[in-house]
Amino acid sequence: MKKAVFPGSFDPITLGHYDIIKRAIKLFDEVIVAIGVNADKKYMFTLEERMRFIEESFAGEPKVKVVSYEGLTVDFCQKNNVDFILRGLRNPADFEFEKAIAHTNRDLAPIETVFLLTAANTSYISSSIVRDVIRNHGDYTKLVPISVRVK
Ligand code: ADP
Repeated sequence: MKKAVFPGSFDPITLGHYDIIKRAIKLFDEVIVAIGVNADKKYMFTLEERMRFIEESFAGEPKVKVVSYEGLTVDFCQKNNVDFILRGLRNPADFEFEKAIAHTNRDLAPIETVFLLTAANTSYISSSIVRDVIRNHGDYTKLVPISVRVK
């Protein structure tokens, strides 16, 4: 069984993440969206909200699982028999950043990182821009799946 972990903060999930997960479903038997918990980081949405937004986006899609984890992504992969890490690439900055992480992960464990290129129409979307729009009371609804709603 080919399993991939898609690690990230997903604060919140955006249409960019959504597109990557949708396309990964065709490549893997299971896609585990894994929300990394970092005690030092401040998030806009709670872990429960971030998990719920993703679960609701993929309700009825049995290949997608949503979990949280602490520690190294490669350790999570090895504990859960996952051979692939999935990441999205938007631009050269993403590439440089992701390259260093992927090389480090390969030093730590025999796990391949698989990159999917962002869809053209979601390439400009990031969770940090979405958070800025929300903070400033702008219309964020075109940037995120319908499950992401601010109370
Ligand atoms: P992190 O905290 O690791 O930066 P994110 O939740 O921001 O987590 O992103 C998780 C993954 O999703 C990363 O591989 C990132 O490059 C990818 N990603 C984020 N936004 C997009 C997008 N618009 N298109 C494609 N991939 C994206």
